[in-house]
Amino acid sequence: MTAADRKLLESFGRALATQKLRLVYQPKVSLKDGRLTRVEALVRWDDPELGPVSPSRFVPLAEQHGLIDPLTEWGLRTTLKQWRKWREQGLETRLAFNISAVSLQSLDFPDLVERMCRAVGVPTDRLVLELTEGATQPLVRLMDTLTRFRIKGMGLAIDDFGTGYSSLLQLRQLPFTEVKIDRCFVKDLPSAHDSRLIVRTIVDLAHGLGLVATAEGIETIEQLRCVRELGCDVVQGFLVAPPLDPDDLIGWDREFKKLWPALLSDESLELWGDVEADTLRQR
Ligand code: C2E
Ligand code: MG
Ligand code: MG
Repeated sequence: MTAADRKLLESFGRALATQKLRLVYQPKVSLKDGRLTRVEALVRWDDPELGPVSPSRFVPLAEQHGLIDPLTEWGLRTTLKQWRKWREQGLETRLAFNISAVSLQSLDFPDLVERMCRAVGVPTDRLVLELTEGATQPLVRLMDTLTRFRIKGMGLAIDDFGTGYSSLLQLRQLPFTEVKIDRCFVKDLPSAHDSRLIVRTIVDLAHGLGLVATAEGIETIEQLRCVRELGCDVVQGFLVAPPLDPDDLIGWDREFKKLWPALLSDESLELWGDVEADTLRQR
């Protein structure tokens, strides 16, 4: 481990132990009607010395040095409690939560997650676990744990699909309920012919297997319309909303319902252009 990583790990361990981490929530909306279908919890860490540190930097360190289970448990408990608060305020949605493949090695983990849901009063079918395949951790090896989650009613999404080692075979072999198409395929839409072909193929395959197809990283109206045409069910990205503080979700939901028709109609494009620019500035 480099000296910089060691320092980062120590600071992260302190932040976790002293509750200095927080969660933000990014909406995912249905392409059928623009309604909020779920929110993805994303961890944030603002270190007083280092400034904001990306989860892509500290999650792998936590995985390698025994801190991933406490991070997952803290995050999941916080997210479940937040769901209760939203529901009390009249917002009914599902939660998407990123789970490291490292945590899935324990066969007891699904029981723990179920107990946490029960303790907070969240039905298990409100929770979708997002999994990413790591280079050393083919998800197929985790079949038993994944099956236990499904039996208990949780949804399972394969995240960043189409990158790294994720293979088509896994979609058939493992009990997923949702595929999240990685944003690298969305980035060059609508013009890139090969990206269109890939997205369409993943969507068709997902539908053939009875899975929800979600497109990640939607930043422009053209991308949104294109993935809608290609048959995607759900979108997530800065165009729809950046990751939000929990108290901002209900207000966002109210405004987005009004703005949704503008996303699909050419007349209102100009109006949306301003909103889009604002959203991007805020992120
Ligand atoms: P992910 O699960 O694929 O999350 C999506 C990432 O894309 C998030 O980055 C989000 O802020 C970013 N994003 C969303 N919309 C757009 C867009 O339109 N354009 C672009 N360029 N980016 C967009 P973030 O929050 O930095 O998270 C990075 C990764 O870290 C996540 O990828 C996930 O794998 C991991 N992660 C985040 N929070 C947690 C957590 O609580 N636990 C675990 N185990 N992993 C987490
Ligand atoms: Mg995710
Ligand atoms: Mg992703």
